[in-house]
Amino acid sequence: MKEYTGQGVCGGVCVGEAFVFRAQTYEIEEEDRTVDPKESWQAFLRARDATRQELEQLYRESALTLGEEQAEIFSVQAMMAQDEELSASVQAGMLELGLTAMAAVRRAIGQREAMFLNMEDAYLRERAADVRDVGERLCSWLAGRNQRDECPLPQRPCILCATELSPAQTAGLDRHMVLGFVTAHGSPTSHTAILARSMNIPALVGVGEAAIAAIRDGELLAMDALNGTLILSPDESTLRTMEQRADQMRQQQAQSERYRGKKTRSAAGREIHLYANAALPEDVDGVLAADAEGIGLFRSEFLYLGRQSAPDEEEQFEIYRSILERMGDRRVIVRTLDIGADKQAGCLPSLGREENPALGCRAIRHSLRYPALFLTQAKALLRASLYGRLSVMFPLISSEEELRGILSLWDRAREEVGACADVELGVMIETPAAALISDRLARMVAFFSIGTNDLTQYTLAMDRQNEALQPFYRPHHPAVLSLIRMTVENAKAAGIWVGICGELGADLSLTETLVGMGIDEFSVAPSRILALREKIASVP
Ligand code: PEP
Ligand code: MG
Repeated sequence: MKEYTGQGVCGGVCVGEAFVFRAQTYEIEEEDRTVDPKESWQAFLRARDATRQELEQLYRESALTLGEEQAEIFSVQAMMAQDEELSASVQAGMLELGLTAMAAVRRAIGQREAMFLNMEDAYLRERAADVRDVGERLCSWLAGRNQRDECPLPQRPCILCATELSPAQTAGLDRHMVLGFVTAHGSPTSHTAILARSMNIPALVGVGEAAIAAIRDGELLAMDALNGTLILSPDESTLRTMEQRADQMRQQQAQSERYRGKKTRSAAGREIHLYANAALPEDVDGVLAADAEGIGLFRSEFLYLGRQSAPDEEEQFEIYRSILERMGDRRVIVRTLDIGADKQAGCLPSLGREENPALGCRAIRHSLRYPALFLTQAKALLRASLYGRLSVMFPLISSEEELRGILSLWDRAREEVGACADVELGVMIETPAAALISDRLARMVAFFSIGTNDLTQYTLAMDRQNEALQPFYRPHHPAVLSLIRMTVENAKAAGIWVGICGELGADLSLTETLVGMGIDEFSVAPSRILALREKIASVP
């Protein structure tokens, strides 16, 4: 029996067999004289063909969703993949240096990248990033698949153990087959952890690589995500303790059950809206079962992750319509595409390597850069608005110009769509800049929703993903609380409502403060709804 500790990001106790997901890496032996160069060459030709087809497909689809100009990049990359000189240099690596296909591609791509980087012309220099992208695609095909999005597929219910899980991999999990998951790395506000909460799967992050390496496939594991403990091959007495812990948790939940079906009111009688966060269409079942009043944040970018091509207007329309119909007269607030940073969609044009992706072309910046992509989503949403009670909000706004830009695109989509309902529009307050100009932004929209995960990250200049910074990443920091207070005051002065959809909303130690500030709405993981309603009822 061995014990490890980590950080519980979604509470719960579970016992089950381990399923160890070891993502293969692209790194393979540089030189391997046992590999027949002819076989390597054939493998390269297959990868080259697959890459070209994939890029041509991306070109066709992006031309429809993003427009010809933006899609052009895929056609350029398809030509790069076919380039005779590149192929000749790969072949030389195999024949003359005895390199494996992967190593030969790496070498040839590296040389071409250096060549572009040394060019005088700035446009040509930028093409180095495209060469790198082509190389990544070739390598991923040589490795047999696209690793980033490949999803672990356990065949029976188990505890999933991995070094890391990307948001796309987590979103693709079959939740009936995963009793819980444990990762070597990760932080509580990473999107992987957020997804675990919205799926209500007990999850433990940051147990360290040694713990994952020590777990054998099929080994019995006991995990207490509330206490942050993971036990390998637990003995009888540990299993009994786990059973008792599970009982305690069931009792605590039963306490909160008294609040099912009730309005959310403070002890003073103030009514608060209590909504749930969701990321995938199948989360709607959990939202309804949790007795949430609506969906306060639907993270629409998850519809784009882990796919070969972006969902078109028709597919998105059907998804939004079905969510709205299932939610009936309950409000659904969809957040427009927040792609970038840790949520990279392989089906969208690559932004090249960004030095600081969290400070890069993310969320609203991406939508403004690719207006055709935004218009596709906006039109799908507007058409779906006839089937329920839809609100829409824009992520990562930091200036009035950005908001004006996106509102004018929204108006254009509305003119093109024709029949649609009146959709209430809001802004997510998740940058210090947005909080500081919230008096101005408040005149332009109907509501604010405060995203405390990013607001904390950007106020404290601290990467929310970085586990080493966790002791210092504090949403309770007075600077963050001041910005929240300022936002609420400005919203009230302008007569608009204000909610909170970041993870801080579910922190019961702060409920009284937030209600006291005047927050009108909380949107939290479905599993937190009843406990929060109970807590609000005790707030004077
Ligand atoms: C936030 O930043 O608080 C938020 C709700 O958005 P996300 O966690 O998806 O970045
Ligand atoms: Mg955010």
